[in-house]
Amino acid sequence: MTSHRPFLRAARHLMLCAALILAACATATPRAPTAFAGSRDLVLTGQVTRADWQTYKEITFDVPAGIERLTIAVSHDGREAHTTLDLGLVGPNGFRGWSGSNKTGFTLSATDATPSFSPGRVEPGRWALLIGVPAIREGVTTRFEARVTLAGVQARPVEFAAAPIRTTAGWYRGDFHAHTAHSDGSCDSLSGKRTPCPAFLTLDAARATGLDFVSVTDHNTGAQNNSLRELQGYYDTLLIVPGQEVTTLFGHANALGITEPMEFRLGTPYLPNLEPLRDRVAAHGGMLSVNHPGQPTGEACLGCGWNAPDAHPERIEAVEVINGGSMASTGLAESPNWGVVFWERLLNQGLHPTAIGGSDNHDARMTSKQSPVGMPTTVVYATNLSTAGILDGVRSGRVFIDVAGPGRRIIDLAATGPSGEARMGGTLRLAAGQSGRLRIETQGLAGMTLQLVTGNGAPALSLTAPGLAADTDVRDLALPGSATPYWVRLNVRDASGKLMLLSNPVYVRP
Ligand SMILES: [Zn+2]
Ligand SMILES: [Zn+2]
Repeated sequence: MTSHRPFLRAARHLMLCAALILAACATATPRAPTAFAGSRDLVLTGQVTRADWQTYKEITFDVPAGIERLTIAVSHDGREAHTTLDLGLVGPNGFRGWSGSNKTGFTLSATDATPSFSPGRVEPGRWALLIGVPAIREGVTTRFEARVTLAGVQARPVEFAAAPIRTTAGWYRGDFHAHTAHSDGSCDSLSGKRTPCPAFLTLDAARATGLDFVSVTDHNTGAQNNSLRELQGYYDTLLIVPGQEVTTLFGHANALGITEPMEFRLGTPYLPNLEPLRDRVAAHGGMLSVNHPGQPTGEACLGCGWNAPDAHPERIEAVEVINGGSMASTGLAESPNWGVVFWERLLNQGLHPTAIGGSDNHDARMTSKQSPVGMPTTVVYATNLSTAGILDGVRSGRVFIDVAGPGRRIIDLAATGPSGEARMGGTLRLAAGQSGRLRIETQGLAGMTLQLVTGNGAPALSLTAPGLAADTDVRDLALPGSATPYWVRLNVRDASGKLMLLSNPVYVRP
């Protein structure tokens, strides 16, 4: 019926599956609709004895339509008895991988798979988990269990690592924007020839500069993700945030937390406007961040400025206000083309998108004029170092940008009033006539100067003695209530006036 049948038939006479219990088989019957949200587990159990020695078992299960990721974890109770089980997988359209006994589980999707397995669509139909039995002793019965997770559209971001890289809450420093061989990233090869630049060099650069996380956001593809899944196992102190730069002719935006490619042909029947893209990103638990919105669009940079007709700017979750590519070409974070103008326009409409940064590095080896990976750095307060943790941290708005790259510099804001406290990114309710306080905490900024930035009709606020003399500093500023909403944030400048840090606002509303 399908191409893998001969492969299986050859071993079928050896495959009288003993005591196989398809505990959840009924739920796996392909009656499902063409897509479903969430995931479901099948538990396949069985046993092997000496009679199965040097054979291959075929444990079949049915996959309904609409599955985007297949994950299998296998355990058995024969290790102490010296039983060895090998694992392999065959899909409806053929062989998908073999890991021998060196792995106890694997995952695969259209874009990425555990090494030893081939990425590709999770086709509906009959699949087979292959269990090879190279070693089992006389008199031994080994029971195995395979947990098969069939995931459709999952409302949470994809994680390449099985667990958070770090489990503690804190400030995490990263770069949300870089390119590799999977789009237009290029660098000098070992012999000095220009070559598409492999993704591991971006990770090496991120690690070397001290970043906690990095995102490889190649243009309109998910092809980088198979390499990245493999590399995450080795780069296990650095979180790789899945991402892609959705590159339209009317602007660019990073889809973060998603591995499968997003539709980018904006203005065609495939994507008539931004809303289906936003819906899809949201359905997958991802985030769409508008990139370098202030850049001009023209022959030098095709579709770079954000000119997309946008009926729902309130759906913009994040804006890349400082872009390393622009910094490399102008020598400054601040320029007429920087993204802060676009971002503050949204803030003044009463919207709360989070400001982030990205190096937009296209050459991790720096063999061409670039902003290095981590320049600028986005610093996110997150509950842990995972993709979900970082994206939730960005959504909270407790985020600042360090133009100089990673280091130990911190700026944090908290507003307090009769209604409670709001951290940077949060909203304090403060009616006209009430009064609150803005606490500004800094670290590592001795010799620099604070600059208050306000908007949306904020009352006059000023900092007396804005210079920072000590390594750690705490300021307390009176914050008046107002009949209309406003926002307040800070820039930090060095002795020459150059922008070093940019905070997100706290929002005040009656
Ligand atoms: Zn771009
Ligand atoms: Zn880019």
